Amino acid sequence: MGNPLRDRRTLAELADTGQVIEIAEKISDFERLSGIVEADLAALDPDKLPRDWRDSAITGRLSFGYLDAQKQVVMLEGEVAATVDAVCQRCLEPFRLALSVALRVLPVTTGQSATGGEDFDVWELDDATLRPADIVEEALIMAMPLSAMHETADTCREFDATAGDTPQTTKPFATLKAQIDENR
Ligand SMILES: [Zn+2]
Repeated sequence: MGNPLRDRRTLAELADTGQVIEIAEKISDFERLSGIVEADLAALDPDKLPRDWRDSAITGRLSFGYLDAQKQVVMLEGEVAATVDAVCQRCLEPFRLALSVALRVLPVTTGQSATGGEDFDVWELDDATLRPADIVEEALIMAMPLSAMHETADTCREFDATAGDTPQTTKPFATLKAQIDENR
């Protein structure tokens, strides 16, 4: 029977069978993603390192089919979600970062063009085979922010220092006024 997520199969096979894959994995099942999360967490003091970061669940669903009635264009739809441990770039504390990706992909082989799927992203493959797990991993890696940060002031103790929505103008002005007063 094999493992539909891990097995490499041709696009035609996946689409012909209307393959649907339920995803229930862990971060540790994905080597590249684990590497990225691990490198990020390496900035932490060892005592702050979340102990179970490798066990974070990755869930979702992929389904394959054809975009067109003529069965020329393979499509892949689905969603992938994970909550990973990351380091906030403002306060340098670990936090749980929720990632969620909706996938609408036309996987094509290099050089092939895919038309008629304006709502879809075209992903070029080296050949006409695919490991669904690679798509899941790629989607999550692309969803990772360049610099992960707490999203609210409630959770981040450095939030005000760098947030653009606080009235920053008050401080320089106050400083300037103090300087003027000093010079009198
Ligand atoms: Zn923070």
